[in-house]
Amino acid sequence: MRNYTSDAAFPAGFRVPELPEVEAVAREVRAALRRSTIVDVRVHRWSVVTGASRQVDRLLLGARVLDLVRHGKQLALVGADGSVLVVQLGMSGSFGVVPASAPLEPHTHIAWTLDRSRELRFVDPRRFGGVTWLRDRTALTTRWSRLGPDALALPSGWFTPITTSRRAIKAALLDQRTVAGVGNIYADEALSLVNIAPQRPCSRLNEHHFGALGRALGTIMRSALASGGSTIRTYRRMGGGAGAFQASLRVYGRAGQPCVTCSRPLESGLVAGRTTVWCTACQS
Ligand SMILES: [Zn+2]
Repeated sequence: MRNYTSDAAFPAGFRVPELPEVEAVAREVRAALRRSTIVDVRVHRWSVVTGASRQVDRLLLGARVLDLVRHGKQLALVGADGSVLVVQLGMSGSFGVVPASAPLEPHTHIAWTLDRSRELRFVDPRRFGGVTWLRDRTALTTRWSRLGPDALALPSGWFTPITTSRRAIKAALLDQRTVAGVGNIYADEALSLVNIAPQRPCSRLNEHHFGALGRALGTIMRSALASGGSTIRTYRRMGGGAGAFQASLRVYGRAGQPCVTCSRPLESGLVAGRTTVWCTACQS
């Protein structure tokens, strides 16, 4: 089943879908939903739904889907009636269109039956994700205005709010209010690419550093997207293969292995409460 997780226990080292994986899901689902109408909705677990008061018509029952949009790691289905369903994949969620006859994956919480014998399904074993009903696009705009700019399209002054912060740059990057869509893997990779230590305070970076970092984030995200995402366990492309991008990771998951630039063993430790890998020689 496309984009679906397995029901296996998650071993140490599993990772959550990040922006490139969510964008890949968005593209696939958007294409599959084009000109589709939702003819039935089955909710197997209402606790993953916010704002709908157990009303199935708030889950786009009977509606045509006009669009699927994304900001950072959030997706939103826009119905022809103007209402919006925000979909968050959380740590283990998946979202995809399958033939209606496909066996129901464990932890399938919502299934939207589409015309032409297909179903859109939301699956989330760990239930950190969920679906939120919003009245209209204005409510979505308000919700997303609380997030920083999308990491795939950073404006030139994206860093202005953090230039005087004493927080570690990695902590600022992981804060979705700074940049929407950056997670642990791409934060480490981008900092490695521009030779900035993850624990360096934002206030000790200049405009040149921030500019280079923003460009590195964009480059890495677009590269991951082009190669199908870097997922190791949770996110799988159709056919079950992991994304190819992980082969080109510079630091993530490579603690103790040689730095690709200077060959010294990479360091690892906790920064912003997250496992972090960096080169003590190249990054300062
Ligand atoms: Zn190095």
